[in-house]
Formats: sequence, C-alpha cells, structure tokens
Amino acid sequence: MTVWVGTSWKMNKTLAEATDWAQGLAEALAGRELGGVQPFVIPPATAIGAVAQVLAEEPRVLVGAQNAHWEDAGAWTGEVSVPQVADAGARIVEIGHSERREHFAETDETVRAKVAATLRHGLVPLLCVGEPAHVQAAGGSGAHILEQVGRALEGLAEDQLARVLIAYEPVWAIGEHGRPATTAELAEPFAALAAAWGSRVQGLLYGGSVNLDNAADLLGIPGVDGLFVGRTAWQLEGYLRLLEIA
Ligand code: PGA
Repeated sequence: MTVWVGTSWKMNKTLAEATDWAQGLAEALAGRELGGVQPFVIPPATAIGAVAQVLAEEPRVLVGAQNAHWEDAGAWTGEVSVPQVADAGARIVEIGHSERREHFAETDETVRAKVAATLRHGLVPLLCVGEPAHVQAAGGSGAHILEQVGRALEGLAEDQLARVLIAYEPVWAIGEHGRPATTAELAEPFAALAAAWGSRVQGLLYGGSVNLDNAADLLGIPGVDGLFVGRTAWQLEGYLRLLEIA
C-alpha cells in the first residue's frame, strides 16, 4: 500500500528557503529506500519551478501547486492555469483547501471545474474537504464531507476517479487556530469516506494539526492512506521525521 506524506507550505518561503528545503530533502533521501512511502511537496506558485528543478535529482518526490484555474489561459488576472503549473513542474494540484473556500470564494462548482481541468491535463487532483466546527458538534461530519466529495467528483469516469487524491481536513483542526483531532473523532468520517470512495480513488489522506506525536496514530485510523501536513513539515527536520514515522 502507498502511504502518502505531503506538505503544503501555504504562503511561506522565499526562493532561497524553498530550494534549501528541497536540496536538503534530496540529500536526505539519496540512496534510501522509501518502501511504500510517496512524498510530495506543494510550494507557493513562485517556487514550484525552482523546487521542481532541484527535485529533478530525486524524482520520487512529487511537486504540486496549491491552486490552479479551470481555464487553460485567458483574461484571469492573478491566476495560474493547470498547463502553467504543469509547465513549472507540478504533477499534483491541491484544490478546495478550506482557506481558499473561506477567503477566495471557492465553491463546490469551482472546485469541480478545477478537478476536471487537472484531470484533463494529466495531473493528480488533491481534493480537500472538511466540515466546520458547528457541523462536527452536531455529529454531521461524515455527511458533510460526503456531500462535498460527491459534488466535486460528480460525473467523473472510474478511470479518472482512480487518479484522484482526497484529503479530509476538518476546518476546526487546521492551522494555529485549530486543535488536533483525536482518532476517535476521525473514525466515523473516515469510515464514511472509505466506504463511499476508498476503493474508487487513489488515496484518502488526513490533514489538520498533524504533528510528530499524533502522526502514527492518525496513520493507524482505518481508511487513512497518508498525511497532508502544514506547520510540522515546514522545517525539513519535521518532514523527515514524518517520513520515518510513515
Ligand atoms: P496544519 O495545516 O498542519 O498547519 O494544521 C494543515 C493544512 O492546512 O493542510
């Protein structure tokens, strides 16, 4: 089984910091067996090209983009397209992270269009879903994420679905304002996700306040095929530790 271990740097790192991290990773992995672990890194758009160039010497690490538009080109000031991020070296496109849904008006409809564009160009969509705190408090986590996934993947053929990654990231567990989820809290939503999509997509990942103390337990939740990590992996040391834990 493949165990995915990825990080998004969000809006962090200069080119120098990004290439240092990537260079350090390439050196740390050189000559090392990865077993079934599949590493990936998602830099800010400014650093995709530079990171991909450094990691050309360690192609087992996939590089991704944090967002890409559904149109291939055109009058969309400030956006980048799937062919553009692919041209820079990205092979994964993160889509629908809760920060984008909240601050940049991502809807189920734009998320679906971006998933389709990503698949059309042969990249892997990393679809992010997750429920807000009040939905979790009311016991609606599983139903909420199934609805989000259903809308995002509506109409896709089985061979397209087989390339999709899904990251379940409860909104209340993400970032410095979040709190780590317990494995008990995640069991029901992951069971629901795994039952509906586990055999149809490429993998189901967990994200939200993953740290060195909870990573092993999170990977042990039935249905979890990997981790999608923010803060803990921004320092290379943390990321390397996570690869070891996986
Ligand atoms: P975090 O971010 O690990 O810093 O909570 C996770 C995410 O937003 O994917």
